[in-house]
Amino acid sequence: NPICIICVGMAGSGKTSLVNRIQESLEEDLDQSAYCVNLDPATLSLPYEASIDIRDTINYKEVMKQHKLGPNGAIMTSLNLFTTKFDQVMGILERRAYPDEQETTTTEQTPNPPMDYIIIDTPGQIEAFTWSASGSIMSESLASAFPTVLCFVVDTARCASSPNTFMSNMLYACSMLYRTRLPLVVVFNKTDVVSHEFCLEWMRDYEAFQKALDEVSDSSGFYGSLTRSLSMALDEFYSTFANACGVSAMTGNGMDEFWTTVRKAAEQDFALDYIEDLKSR
Ligand code: GDP
Ligand code: MG
Repeated sequence: NPICIICVGMAGSGKTSLVNRIQESLEEDLDQSAYCVNLDPATLSLPYEASIDIRDTINYKEVMKQHKLGPNGAIMTSLNLFTTKFDQVMGILERRAYPDEQETTTTEQTPNPPMDYIIIDTPGQIEAFTWSASGSIMSESLASAFPTVLCFVVDTARCASSPNTFMSNMLYACSMLYRTRLPLVVVFNKTDVVSHEFCLEWMRDYEAFQKALDEVSDSSGFYGSLTRSLSMALDEFYSTFANACGVSAMTGNGMDEFWTTVRKAAEQDFALDYIEDLKSR
């Protein structure tokens, strides 16, 4: 069974770069195949090779003109239009995932080898995919057909200077868990700029996070006190749900650990239960 990886994260966190790195790591180091899907209609060029690209069927500029929309509205509308064709995408993915079952019909062509991973790149602005009906429909379709893992990509460098930014990211990651109910991997990206060790420590050790908060100037008063109590409330999220690892999409550092973490997440009990639940609907 191929594992499906959906990459989400704030704009500029490095989703597209990570998809590129994942493809390279699979094909060059692990000798496995990656089937990449681009869902960002507004991207100009991609560093990786997309097997399915929303831009092949949806013209984002044209959507903007025709529906008189701004950039964000046009991205949402493009995703909606694409969702209406997503059953075809699922058809392609399922045929590629389980080619044996179609063998009788494709005797003429040399059959492609089954793919090992499906990688989904989502639009730059996180909410376009994560807070839209079309995003939910697409991720549920994928999750009902394949073991699916949500990778929440974080810009580690931006957390380094601010425990509050770190907290915002963790809250967002946690809300993604509520929304999708998929197993989650928090991917601390850009470890070539700064090591992600401090993030792991903040997740593991409440005191360490409090100490870091004490050292920044905006940690006193109401806001600081809120951050403090939130970090306590997130304890179970950190210990049970948030599988975490650090990578550099740029250098490829940390990819071994990334694969271990993704495979472990795909097998978490609550995830398996949820997928069964989706299938039975
Ligand atoms: P997306 O909007 O989430 O798809 O982010 P992109 O993949 O387009 O990356 C945003 C910016 O971050 C680009 O300028 C990338 O070159 C940079 N970037 C991505 N990954 C890394 C990384 O691992 N290290 C460093 N230093 N920069 C990165
Ligand atoms: Mg991108």
